[in-house]
Amino acid sequence: MQNRQLQDKTALVTGSTSGIGLAIAHALAAEGANIIFNGFGDAVMITELQKNTASIHGVATYYHPADMSKPADIAEMMSQAALQMGGVDILINNAGIQHVANIEDFPPERWDAVIAINLSSAFHTTRLALPAMRQKNWGRIINIASAHGLVASAQKSAYVAAKHGIVGFTKVTALETALTGITCNAICPGWVLTPLVQHQVDARAAQHAIPAEQAKRELLLEKQPSGEFVTTEQLAALAVFMCSEAANQVRGAAWNMDGGWVAQ
Ligand code: NAD
Repeated sequence: MQNRQLQDKTALVTGSTSGIGLAIAHALAAEGANIIFNGFGDAVMITELQKNTASIHGVATYYHPADMSKPADIAEMMSQAALQMGGVDILINNAGIQHVANIEDFPPERWDAVIAINLSSAFHTTRLALPAMRQKNWGRIINIASAHGLVASAQKSAYVAAKHGIVGFTKVTALETALTGITCNAICPGWVLTPLVQHQVDARAAQHAIPAEQAKRELLLEKQPSGEFVTTEQLAALAVFMCSEAANQVRGAAWNMDGGWVAQ
């Protein structure tokens, strides 16, 4: 476990108890980064996750239960990250939720939640992480946006607004750090079969009274020309690349990995 490229770095991955965030946390740990987990889930599962990550990869781990819709929770998490883990070198803004409804039926409180978790939380973590990154003159900020950060779909107003917003926020962060060793980029995944998408598959199957497998295929083919899901491991490998020295001049990118979705 010597000479791994992220040895002595600490990564905070928001929403890392599931899906894409979990895969990114594993991949960064495999490169030697200490991991701060965040996200909801069963306490026993989270303790196991911390223990297993630490023992498999020989890294330190920590968990903070901050609700990413709450700025005060985020501030508390960032100060604990400094106290317990010596700060955040790699910030992965990943926590996210979805709500699917026409605008006139969209519950205002769901709009507020999507914007708070998928967009505003990244502002709060970034503003609190940047001072220490500037002091070290090194940092990586990766915002998990979406193909919906580049193009829209009906019934996803809050999600599309938040994801377009985070692509813009990524560019501003990259410009404000352009003269430093801190980079900021966005990753824009297409469909990935995580719990977030499984809910949409289940809803479609129920709505059209079709089997789940058919709903999955239809959902994919509507948007993703490859007809295949992007995997969490593929996205995690891109995040590792963005953390590498080879990516020093990748700045302000909105990098899609989407089976051809936004090429159409
Ligand atoms: P997921 O549901 O598997 O994981 C979401 C994670 O966020 C979980 O750990 C959950 O506990 C956490 N989370 C949710 N609300 C939170 C809150 N208020 N505070 C703290 N943590 C919270 O979903 P996923 O598919 O892995 O999504 C991760 C990110 O990837 C999201 O930003 C999502 O928009 C984005 N994304 C997903 C897809 C896809 O097809 N799955 C496509 C493009 C973008």
